[in-house]
Amino acid sequence: MAEIIDGKMISSQIKEEVKQGAARLKEAGTTVTLAVIQVGSDPASSVYVGNKKKACEYVGFCSLSYELPEETTEEKLLGLVSELNGRADVNGILVQLPLPGHISEDKVIQMISPDKDVDGFHVNNVGRLNVGEEGFVSCTPAGIIQLLKRSGVAIEGRECVVVGRSNIVGKPMAALLLRENGTVTVCHSRTKNLAEVTRRADILVVAIGKPKFITAEYVKDGAVVVDVGIHRNENGKLCGDVDFDSVAPKASHITPVPGGVGPMTIAMLMANCLQSAERAGRRA
Ligand code: NDP
Repeated sequence: MAEIIDGKMISSQIKEEVKQGAARLKEAGTTVTLAVIQVGSDPASSVYVGNKKKACEYVGFCSLSYELPEETTEEKLLGLVSELNGRADVNGILVQLPLPGHISEDKVIQMISPDKDVDGFHVNNVGRLNVGEEGFVSCTPAGIIQLLKRSGVAIEGRECVVVGRSNIVGKPMAALLLRENGTVTVCHSRTKNLAEVTRRADILVVAIGKPKFITAEYVKDGAVVVDVGIHRNENGKLCGDVDFDSVAPKASHITPVPGGVGPMTIAMLMANCLQSAERAGRRA
């Protein structure tokens, strides 16, 4: 039976480290500050925003909250982002997605200063990741690297297969595994003979968005399996993209859902905000 990679425990460690970093900066006169913008009142978004504010409070950051009505114009939102870009006391700007249909998400993301883009979605940060320069990395894949490293899983020289090529998970995940000297293959909906490819993986990261899609026949004996998916069934129970019950007996390590990748995303958001404040301090 696989060793469970404990995302709850590892995310707590990271938050403790961030808390200590924030306290050091506070002693030096800087309060790390994250601005969180939500447009409309989508209940799932409100939960995510609430969790981010709670995490800020826990690690000793200040969170500035902007709750804008659904009918907010794109111009108004871009104006707010621009104002926050110019504020020296703001270290991170997060615009909760999805935005209402009349606002271009891409325009808004690209308006965020790359130096405050703690979600790591700005093209400058995506480019920096791909050429190996310092920048912000998308929180979920950055969290997965921490899960692997802190669980003693070696990446260098190993066959890594990422299933999914989204801009926020699959692609940055592949870039990060490559940066760690893994041998990386990326699969997607047009991949032929998916199981043949995934069975090559020493480390298999699954971000497809389909409940329990990856079953035992997709997994090599002894593989490390990371499940990014989050789904809630009709009884309110969470599951991932991996069929945990069939895969866990075969894997050497596996992330559960809940309690695996999920808690890492906010922890890495906090780590990115701290990094932003530290870099701003070095630039000053
Ligand atoms: P997207 O829907 O943006 O991307 C899904 C990817 O999976 C696409 O690249 C798609 O390929 C690929 N795919 C779909 N079906 C298949 C298939 N049958 N075989 C192979 N590849 C397939 O999803 P995200 O990356 O945003 O999210 C993936 C999952 O992770 C979701 O369940 C989401 O809820 C969860 N998630 C969890 C987070 C966390 O904090 N734990 C954070 C972000 C996401 P193609 O490009 O060809 O269409």
